[in-house]
Amino acid sequence: MNVPQLKSLLKLQKNDLTLIQLKKEAQSVPERQAQIKKNAQSARDQATAAQDAVKACESAIKQIELEVETAKEQINKYKTQQMQARTNEEYKAFEKEIANAGEKIGELEDKELLEMTRLDEVKADLVKAREVEAAAEAQVATEIQELEERLNVIRSTFAEVKEGREDLVAEIDKEISDRYMQLLNKKQDAVVVPIRQDSCNGCHMKLTPQTLHDAHSQQKWTNCNFCGRYLYDDGE
Ligand SMILES: [Zn+2]
Repeated sequence: MNVPQLKSLLKLQKNDLTLIQLKKEAQSVPERQAQIKKNAQSARDQATAAQDAVKACESAIKQIELEVETAKEQINKYKTQQMQARTNEEYKAFEKEIANAGEKIGELEDKELLEMTRLDEVKADLVKAREVEAAAEAQVATEIQELEERLNVIRSTFAEVKEGREDLVAEIDKEISDRYMQLLNKKQDAVVVPIRQDSCNGCHMKLTPQTLHDAHSQQKWTNCNFCGRYLYDDGE
């Protein structure tokens, strides 16, 4: 174990962990953008559905009003015919038809009242759906852009951090840096870790006396028997 090399290795690890973090964040951006767009689409769909419900309700009311109009015309027709009735039976028959039509109008008007109440409800739903839609559209406009800007920051930070990497690698024995890279690729987490309470700070397993002795003596590179991480004694 070579103390200056350990310092370089720790510096390299710090940079590499930053690179891993940045890469993960960059990879999550498209998914986050897609989710924002998906939310906006769903808000648009709900607003359209709410608009359709209002239209359906309005057309139902119009239909009822037409039926009321038709029934009223029918009553007028019956009344004219009733006046021309030749027999008492005929007269009474028209009277019955007029009463039936009047009853139907009453039913239609009750139905219309219900539809009117429903119209108020669906209109209120539409106002809410439009608000949600506007908020979602605003979110698309701002957050997609913010994520795009964040991506640019990530890219430039990534390039900056990566720039000094080769110099650091050159300061470390190839065998050690190769092993370090293998471990890092596998764990995607810290692979050069301190000893804490006689345990590996990576996998938290209790280390053997021999491993502890090797790490404390700093005479050679020491790896955890369990997870293979490089161990170092920082005196804590
Ligand atoms: Zn370990």
